[in-house]
Amino acid sequence: MKEGAHQQRDSLAQTDCAICGGRQWVEHYRGPVRAGRFGTLAPAPGLVLRCRSCDAAYLVGQPVDYASDAYRKLVDGGGEAADFHRVHDAEQAEKLALLGTGSLRGRCVADIGCGAGALLDLVRAVGARTLAVEPMTAYHAAMRSGGHAVFPVVEAVPPEWHGQVDLATCFSVLEHIEDPLAFLQGIRRLLKPCGRLLLSTPNRDDWLLELLPEDYGQFFYRVVHRWYFTAGSLCQLGSRAGFAAVSPAFHHRFDLSNFLLWLRDRHPTGLGRLAASPVLDATFVATLAATGRSDYLHAWLEA
Ligand SMILES: [Zn+2]
Repeated sequence: MKEGAHQQRDSLAQTDCAICGGRQWVEHYRGPVRAGRFGTLAPAPGLVLRCRSCDAAYLVGQPVDYASDAYRKLVDGGGEAADFHRVHDAEQAEKLALLGTGSLRGRCVADIGCGAGALLDLVRAVGARTLAVEPMTAYHAAMRSGGHAVFPVVEAVPPEWHGQVDLATCFSVLEHIEDPLAFLQGIRRLLKPCGRLLLSTPNRDDWLLELLPEDYGQFFYRVVHRWYFTAGSLCQLGSRAGFAAVSPAFHHRFDLSNFLLWLRDRHPTGLGRLAASPVLDATFVATLAATGRSDYLHAWLEA
């Protein structure tokens, strides 16, 4: 290991795990990591360490400024609300399907790390009262004019909102957060006693990561993702944050063609490049979900 990597590892070894307080770290991955969208690697190799105690993995690096234009340009190609909607509006139907539309009217719904509020616009349309939490302040005026209460971070949500939220959502955000335990504790404070949180994050037990640790590793690990969770580490985190129950579920977003071509070509090819019967595809996706080897984790957390 080079001197710089030694120093990085040694300095972290002196650091308590932000999730469980453990101090024993093992080297989990060292190599190229993504800078942003696929195709651009960070200039320096990344070092991912895993906490022996809680099994969460951590990419050593500098914090990212999520209030900056630079981050949104990296992921959306621009920093305006319209850029966000162009990229993310199509993703919202799947989230709405997870929530269901039958129990939202008259409820208070918070989306934490909501971007420009694409999900909240839909939730508000079926009669919910909405709370938006998003560090990118350039989106705030547009969200306020859409009828949402808006705050930059969970800590800035005033006490009158504490204990008011029926349902909180937090999609693909947890992996970006430096202190996930404090973050989930903050979300839990917003929930009613019987409130629930639905969150999602990439699954570190993704089968391709086991089969192609180097080629898929440099696709999977990225500078903007600080933490990498398994279902077990996510359950530990939720429990330590004070949630009464954590129910993880697995969700695979890609088809058999994508998987086979990863194995052949060692890079992503998108969906539907090889012909497979719908039955075979459905069986493949259901098998990964049933065995916990999907690319994404969802979890319902009960306050
Ligand atoms: Zn830990």
